[in-house]
Amino acid sequence: MKLRTTLVLAAALAGVAIMVSTRIAAADPTSRITILYDAFGADAAMKKDWGFSALVEISGKRILFDTGNDSDIFAANIKAKNIDLTSIDFVVLSHRHSDHMAGLNHVLSVNPTVKIYAPKEGFGIYGSSLPSSFYRKDESLPQEMRYYDGKPPEVMKFGAAWQRANIEPVDKTTEIAPGITLIALVSDAPGTKELKELSLAVNTSDGIVLVVGCAHPGIERIVEAAKAINPRIRLITGGFHLVVASDEVIAKAVAALKDSFKVENIAPGHCTGEPTFAALKQAFGDRYLYAGVGTSLPLGPGMGSVGRRGEGPALEENDLATYRKLAQREDPFGILRARQQRTRLSHL
Ligand SMILES: [Zn+2]
Ligand SMILES: [Zn+2]
Repeated sequence: MKLRTTLVLAAALAGVAIMVSTRIAAADPTSRITILYDAFGADAAMKKDWGFSALVEISGKRILFDTGNDSDIFAANIKAKNIDLTSIDFVVLSHRHSDHMAGLNHVLSVNPTVKIYAPKEGFGIYGSSLPSSFYRKDESLPQEMRYYDGKPPEVMKFGAAWQRANIEPVDKTTEIAPGITLIALVSDAPGTKELKELSLAVNTSDGIVLVVGCAHPGIERIVEAAKAINPRIRLITGGFHLVVASDEVIAKAVAALKDSFKVENIAPGHCTGEPTFAALKQAFGDRYLYAGVGTSLPLGPGMGSVGRRGEGPALEENDLATYRKLAQREDPFGILRARQQRTRLSHL
């Protein structure tokens, strides 16, 4: 206790924001993260599609982080990995984009009462509520022109897209179980302004294991928030949202992760982007853990010493083809638009 007080004081003096969070013991040897949904991978039993989902098994907890882009594909991948959705502890939905949520219907068909953490958004699809004092009243109006006949309930509830689901909206960074924190941030990027996103930070005695969905608020901001819990970042996996970023922006992000934040291991996927995979692979070397769909990242002692660590290129040719096909079909991140703009600029 005394040591913790000293640490907090030292951090305060150094001008660093620190959050007091429980540290769980070192991840036991069976701890792992299994990638259940992504558009690249080398596991022939898994279907590839744009989107993200991962099962985080750590220190006795089984957490489903996001649910992919298509309920049927998600169900097929769950089956291929023999995962029992009735025994998960809870679900985290990182944000309201469909490539992270569409498999929730399958989860609920198997486990209708499972606890689901989702960002709290006014009038959003996860449901919300407001005190009825939020709207202006006009008592001069006849009763039939007034909301609720002039007698509104104290709290007005707004429905969720999954009516009977056990959704718990999360408004601010919260430690939801000992050592397990949901980092809540808001995007300020054009196109996703005001989008709320949750990231999962597990505080182990070997540092933070951080799982991000799309990192719309910015991967650097999320890592900064994680470092306030524990300055040692052991692993980051998920989408870093640099899929249309320029080489300069990618280089800056890679340098921040490696040199400023001193991230120990990196296992990027989803919307991180092909050029960012390449740049991270080059920067992190054998601390780059391949995280294609179907891969299990071991979190126990000697993490990364098994599996495909440091092996070959992060992407194979057929994965690249999948990415390009998806990007062209739906232009989900404005890839084509960005390319057109670049072409236009190069004509100036
Ligand atoms: Zn997104
Ligand atoms: Zn996404």
